[in-house]
Amino acid sequence: MVNISPSSENGLFSEKKESKKLHFLIKAPENYSYNIEKKMSWDANKPATVYVTPELTKDGEVCKAATVILRTKGCHWWWSSGCTFCGYFNDTRDDVTNENLHEQWNYSKEKLNNFEEVEMIKVYTSGSLLEDREIPIQFQEFVLKETNELGKHLVIESRTEQLTSEKLSWAKKLNSDFTVAIGLEAYDDEVLRFHINKGFTLKSWHKAVEQLKKHNLRIKSYLMFKPPFMSEGEALTQCIKWVKSVVDDSDEISINPMNIQRGTIIDRLYRNGDYRPPWLWSLVELIKSVHNFVQPNGEILSRVIVHPTAAGKPRGAHNCGKCDTEVAAAIERYSVSRSLDEFTDLSCKCILRWKEEIHSDQNLPVPIGVGLNRRINIENLFSSY
Ligand code: SF4
Ligand SMILES: [Zn+2]
Repeated sequence: MVNISPSSENGLFSEKKESKKLHFLIKAPENYSYNIEKKMSWDANKPATVYVTPELTKDGEVCKAATVILRTKGCHWWWSSGCTFCGYFNDTRDDVTNENLHEQWNYSKEKLNNFEEVEMIKVYTSGSLLEDREIPIQFQEFVLKETNELGKHLVIESRTEQLTSEKLSWAKKLNSDFTVAIGLEAYDDEVLRFHINKGFTLKSWHKAVEQLKKHNLRIKSYLMFKPPFMSEGEALTQCIKWVKSVVDDSDEISINPMNIQRGTIIDRLYRNGDYRPPWLWSLVELIKSVHNFVQPNGEILSRVIVHPTAAGKPRGAHNCGKCDTEVAAAIERYSVSRSLDEFTDLSCKCILRWKEEIHSDQNLPVPIGVGLNRRINIENLFSSY
């Protein structure tokens, strides 16, 4: 086999160096020399970002939560393949060490006043905190212990394969009560495989959930609203079903409307005019459709959270431009208030256009939708290609 790696000259390939990861063999923008240089210019001693947001405790009380997004080596699934929408690799560095991660933690702790004002700390790693190939075991241990000693509820993210009985028993000895957020994205094996390239199946998710329940840990499920190769109308129909399918196994369901991250497959579709990020109206409709299901007669089976990243921007969930701020704010408020009253006063002319699009998507045989911004001939919309 020929060993090839990105050339520093033209960003394509040369035969000089040995490749460490399959990703370096792929002719893709993320492997161009200027992008590699950009990645290596990140300060390995500073986290990607740190901020505080309003949250709810597990008992439903309003509180503040710190989010610490660490600069890491990224996700092992991305090293060999990767999800179609995931641009986390843009924030990673291949050589981050245990010492760097401790520096990043100290920086975050200092910046947020020793976490004194928050009750919850979300530690995100652009991958899985409990994956030994990504995060040194000493640092995993440190985060579990430190948050326990600080008396803060810890939220981490993980794929399913790390959540074994052995790993969770080990983690529970260091921190007995934390939440694990899993990027399930879709409760549908076909969507997981062909739209998302998730690299795990529903069977694997169910196994992980079984282990988390056995270890009495909280479960947060991420669902993706409008994955690639799916129309707006289909996304709405499917996502309502997925919420209903995961509600019994999730303490929280966080719905992520697609936002277009640089260098991803969805970015290429978007730039080609073949994908429009979701309408904010679809998110309002989704919430209205599942609200009574997730909290029947006031009993809360699960908490539905929707945080549209880059709302109102062309690459995030958006409406017409005039009503975006107001509609996005109502969606954000719902995640904390859990009240449909947030949506009562919303109105804008563009809702009619959105309704027509949903109606057409749900009634015409158009594989990836009639979204008005698609730059192809109208007759091609009706052919399967
Ligand atoms: S598993 Fe998560 S971090 Fe890894 S490529 Fe997929 S979305 Fe990105
Ligand atoms: Zn509008």
